[in-house]
Order: sequence, then structure tokens, then C-alpha cells
Amino acid sequence: MKVAFGVDIGGTKIKFGAFSQEGRLLEKWSETTDLSDSGRKILPDVSRQIREYIKIKNIREEDITGIGLGIPGPVDKTGFVKICVNLHWKEFNPVTELKHFFPNVRIAAENDANVAALGEYYRGAGRNCESMMLITLGTGVGGGIIMNGKVICGAHGLAGEIGHIDSGMSEIEKCNCGNTGCIDQFASATGIVRIMKSLLTESGDAGENNIMTKFTARDVCMLAKKGDVLANRCIDICMGALGKGLACFSHAFDPEVFVIGGGVARAGELITNAIKRSYNEKLFLIDKGADIKLAQLGNDAGITGACMLVLNGD
Ligand SMILES: [Zn+2]
Repeated sequence: MKVAFGVDIGGTKIKFGAFSQEGRLLEKWSETTDLSDSGRKILPDVSRQIREYIKIKNIREEDITGIGLGIPGPVDKTGFVKICVNLHWKEFNPVTELKHFFPNVRIAAENDANVAALGEYYRGAGRNCESMMLITLGTGVGGGIIMNGKVICGAHGLAGEIGHIDSGMSEIEKCNCGNTGCIDQFASATGIVRIMKSLLTESGDAGENNIMTKFTARDVCMLAKKGDVLANRCIDICMGALGKGLACFSHAFDPEVFVIGGGVARAGELITNAIKRSYNEKLFLIDKGADIKLAQLGNDAGITGACMLVLNGD
């Protein structure tokens, strides 16, 4: 039996997926990331895990068709990583490094957001589309662009950094990138909490309920679903910022579908409907732009997309 592996390397966990040649997930598991020795133990650990798996399953090394890696930072076309803060890597090439352990196996690496986008494109909400953009709403806002099956990284690795597109909203607080008014400051989980706090302060409710330090983006979404006026306003402002950004993106690249993932997207249609309202307001020339859909693969998007790097790449 032939098998390919998708490995999603994060700062706390390494997720592994074993896949059939058709891209079907056979088995998944994870282990803790060992960051000691400037992250130099990570790839030997990856190698050991894969070797253990093929040994248990009685698979020969020549039947491994490829190993794809998702890395939490910028990766160039050769797999070179200039700096990856989360893994403590500097001037490091995980592809050539892993080749030492598997000299005859195809190995590829790509940024984790791009890899998650590839996963959704081939096996999730972007199936049967030519072009797609994944937007992940977590602590920050990330994204990946796929056009005709290929990840678009851009000339400087900036493509897909939708979180730092200007929302056009007036804002005096600075984003962690140094600009003000970034989409990240609104549509991330952090942004939702920030805007909700300012709405509470404005309305004078904050002190009374002593809610200021105690709630999360998830709480705001739950309140909004129950019909709370302020919480709904908060979601409209935050997702409105994202909707405008997606309209800008449509005017530049016109993708078939926007797929919304990450923790905040668990609130479902509350989120996609608010994005759609503002997106449709900003569209020029056409009545209906891209579909805006929820991601389908959840935590498996990374391992799935990493595997697609070696199953579908050139
Ligand atoms: Zn920013």
C-alpha cells in the first residue's frame, strides 16, 4: 500500500496525517513540539513518528509517495525558512533537512495558512472551484489564496495577508503590524472583544455588569445569537470590516469562493451573513460576487493541505 503524509508543525503540537494516494485520510495523530536546541529536534521527531507508523503498518519506505510540511511562518519556493519565531528556526531549510532521513521521498514545505487553504480547496469547502481564498479568524486574521490549484505567495511572501489590509474604518489604536485600521483589529477574536468593550463603555453598560475583563469572542457571538443588540452591532462592525476587505480582494482577483475558517467561524451563519451584507454593499458592476462559505475541515485542513503539496504539486 502506498501512503503520503501531511505534517502540520505548530509551536505547541505537531499534527500528522497518513493519506491514501487519492488523498483520503487514513489515520491522524499528534505529538508535542520539542523546541529545544533551536528547534533542531523537530524534524528528527517527524522522521521518527513516520518511521514508527510505517513499521506498525508494514509499509515499505519506497511506498511513501511524499511528505508535505506546513510551517507557521514564511517559506520560500525551495522550502527555505528565513525566520520562524514559533519554531525557533533561523536560516533553516526543513525540506533538505528531512531529506537526510528520507533521501528518496518527495518532500515539500509551505506556510501553514497556505497549506490550510490547499486543504479546503482540494477536500473541503473549495472543492470543485477554480479559485478560492481561505480566511482564518483566530487570535489574528490569516489567509491563503489558491488560483487554479496553486498557492499564490506573491513576490515577497505577502499575498494572502488579508488581516493587514486597511478596513477603511477610523481607528487610533495601533495594530501589531504598526498600522491602524487593519482588518485584523476588527475581525479577529481579539478584535471582537476589543470592539465589544468599546461599545460597552460607550453605552455605559460596562461598569454595571462588570463584564469588561471576563468575556471572549465566543461569548459575544453567543449573546448576538440570543438577540443582544450591542453584541449584534459588534459583529456587524467587525465582520463588516472583513466584508469590505473581501470586496477589495474580489475587485483585484475575483475568486470564486471565500472560505471562512478559524475559531470565530464556529459561530456559523452569524459570521458569514454579516460578512455577506457588507461584501455585497461594496461590490461594483456585478450583482453577485463570490460565494462566502464556512470552512469544512476544521483542524484537519493543515494536515490535508500539507499532504496535497506532495500529492498534487508539480
Ligand atoms: Zn495590521
